[in-house]
Amino acid sequence: MTSQVSKRLAAGARMPAHGENVLINTQNAVEAALERLGYSDEMFELLAEPIRTMTVRIPVRMDDGHTEVFTGFRAQHNDAVGPTKGGIRFHPNVSLDEVKALSIWMSIKCGIFDLPYGGAKGGIICDPRTMSTTEQERLARGYVRAISQIVGPTKDIPAPDVYTNPQIMAWMYDEYSLMRENDSPNFITGKPIVLGGSKGREKATALGVCIAIRESAKSLGKNLNELTALVQGFGNVGSHVASILHEMGVKVVGVSDAGGGLYEPEGLDIPSLMEKRDSFGMVSTHYSNVLSNEEFLVKPCDILVPAALENQITEENASDIHASIVVEAANGPTTPAADEILHSKGVLLVPDVLANAGGVTVSYFEWVQNNQGWYWDEDKVNQQMEELMVKSVHNILNTSKRYQVSTRLAAYMVGIRPFAEAMKWRGWV
Ligand code: GLU
Repeated sequence: MTSQVSKRLAAGARMPAHGENVLINTQNAVEAALERLGYSDEMFELLAEPIRTMTVRIPVRMDDGHTEVFTGFRAQHNDAVGPTKGGIRFHPNVSLDEVKALSIWMSIKCGIFDLPYGGAKGGIICDPRTMSTTEQERLARGYVRAISQIVGPTKDIPAPDVYTNPQIMAWMYDEYSLMRENDSPNFITGKPIVLGGSKGREKATALGVCIAIRESAKSLGKNLNELTALVQGFGNVGSHVASILHEMGVKVVGVSDAGGGLYEPEGLDIPSLMEKRDSFGMVSTHYSNVLSNEEFLVKPCDILVPAALENQITEENASDIHASIVVEAANGPTTPAADEILHSKGVLLVPDVLANAGGVTVSYFEWVQNNQGWYWDEDKVNQQMEELMVKSVHNILNTSKRYQVSTRLAAYMVGIRPFAEAMKWRGWV
């Protein structure tokens, strides 16, 4: 008994420490944006924390017959403009504070892109890499049953995030529809196309990131085929970013995964790496000369795309980073101290809440298609997303110039405003 208790305590002591700083950093960013826009402290009080959070315990019968109890969370940041929206991650480092921060970032993304949603996020503390398919299915279904009271097509619409995918969305959709005795494709996005998923959703985040790269290079007068890129992370987002950049003529000189990085100054053979990657984005396992994450991030390049997890560009490595353009495909990859270093070096930073919002934008299109029962072709999806991304990138770059603030603060200012205004109209503040 004691050993179980101390194991849980040890795990608990580690997890809040990981999520806490992310939440505090996010709250600081929200506060700075509201202050710059002249909103009251009450407004901050309402936006600093999600309006609703739920912690659930999910018993899962494992394949060997024993029951394992998993902890999951769902945080809904703000529903003043509409239902909330955001992914579910399966990861050992998930914590309530991290999920709260991620839900706030989702609000900012929806605000920048004018989507009629507030932000939400979910997560389960688990390591799907060590779980069988059937164990993952039971966990996914158990999570939906546990949070079912607070989610739904007009309340809160989940989606994929780190280590979750269309198969997991399909099980969750099935479970929700069974519970409600009502076919509900609009309950969740990121589904397989045959189950009402949107064409273009799988690559949407990556395509949006690449459009943001193209537009920011353009704003600096740079030509894409003269530029080199490093992509950290080779999961759904990173691998597609690498291959779209490769198709756009950018020389991708480095990619990395959880096992380390590959670097080739002449450019990597991205199509062959795409073939070698496994479903968790591992590719370095095929090579012997693998760089550590620290060595990888400071290799020469023009564009750096962090597409892995939080807190990767830090005070320790920011001054050694070569890139003049950093485009955050991952959520929260840069710490505030690193932000300042990059800013003082004159790096053009495209913040996460702008760069990776192509994903939630196409999720919105998926929900619209599900609500209407009318499905679009891929060109229409990509074109509508591209229009919104181009408009948003220039809006943030212009706001940053007009207010003389960093691109991140500009993004928070644009993204938080609809929530403040909607809450005023509703009479909440
Ligand atoms: N998990 C993705 C994100 O962080 C997508 C969310 C969604 O599609 O709702 O933006």
